[in-house]
Amino acid sequence: IKIICVVGTRPEAIKMAPLIIALRNTHWASVRIVSTGQHPFLVEKMLSNFSLTPDLICEVMKPNQSLTKLTIRLLGELDRCFQAEKPDIVIGQGDTTSVMAAALAAFYLRIPFAHVEAGLRTRDYENPFPEEMNRVLVGDLAQWHFAPTEIAQRNLLEEGKSVDSIYVTGNTIVDALLYTAGRCPPFDFPEFANCRMILFTAHRRENIGQPFFEICRAARYLADLRDDIFILFPVHPNPAIKDAAYSYLSNHPRIRLTPPLDYIDFIAAMKSSFFILTDSGGVQEEAPSLRKPVLVLRNETERPEGIEAGVTKLVGCDFDSIVNSSLQLLDDDAVYKSFSRGNSPYGDGRASEKIVNILHKALAKHSYAHSS
Ligand code: UDP
Repeated sequence: IKIICVVGTRPEAIKMAPLIIALRNTHWASVRIVSTGQHPFLVEKMLSNFSLTPDLICEVMKPNQSLTKLTIRLLGELDRCFQAEKPDIVIGQGDTTSVMAAALAAFYLRIPFAHVEAGLRTRDYENPFPEEMNRVLVGDLAQWHFAPTEIAQRNLLEEGKSVDSIYVTGNTIVDALLYTAGRCPPFDFPEFANCRMILFTAHRRENIGQPFFEICRAARYLADLRDDIFILFPVHPNPAIKDAAYSYLSNHPRIRLTPPLDYIDFIAAMKSSFFILTDSGGVQEEAPSLRKPVLVLRNETERPEGIEAGVTKLVGCDFDSIVNSSLQLLDDDAVYKSFSRGNSPYGDGRASEKIVNILHKALAKHSYAHSS
């Protein structure tokens, strides 16, 4: 069975890698990796951590391109690719413009689409831009929904998806994390040997501008206030984030800005951190497996499982809220311990294996494969 796995961005590469490896370990799947080029270089670099390389790389990025223009280019490239490759199924992950375009291009060609990490929802109908709308659209286009949690499954059922098209598997990011965490070297900053590290990442479109300024102001305040901490910020390459980060936070003795870290180094940094400040979805899913508290720099999250389990907390982009919650974690042992307990609500590291088994059974039942 010929399968095209589409990856567009860094988190897609991380979350698809264990599944691609598991598919390639079967006797029945022939897998082609298509990188859409939405995050050029980052995706290839990320895949190389798993000894994977894309079979085909599209070039869709142009400076200052609108999401509409990006979608048009993605649809054109993916349509060409699917027509040439003639896959039996296409698999995509998450909520990016790449996965939305892949699902739509596959739909127009009547190629069944499997959605990994299906069913996440913020239910933000006033401002569903852009990820929430991508999730909803992909949900309507997909044949199989691999929901990471029961909450995600419930979201899909509420939207009328048939019960036998939804499978709760856990999130493949836990597979990637556990595979990597066992191999990563210690992450040392000798000059900060006696300091606790706060790992900080931010990149979301919704936080660009004033919210990001407030977040940086809070980070700077914490680094000024306490000489027993230091902040590590691997800066996302999006120019709107990168330029602002360097202009607000460079030249502080206890804040280190770095280019994006290799996955293995980022996981090592997570392991060495005291707690994490982030607006990233993937990091919210990874940190509980490492028992690291996460303060989420957003007002809502499509990942409520961590909040419900008490291992992540929404603090928004408000200066006081970020500072107060950070100080609580630094100073109150009971609060810290309450965050770093229990199992991850996002999976047990076997999501890819489950998805492969489910797909195999489903494909055998419906004989989706071309008879050739
Ligand atoms: N990550 C990484 N290097 C970094 C920052 C993040 O490898 O410097 C990884 C992180 O472990 C997580 C993923 O990238 O798995 C998250 O990606 P991002 O925050 O860009 O996207 P999101 O998860 O919000 O969609």
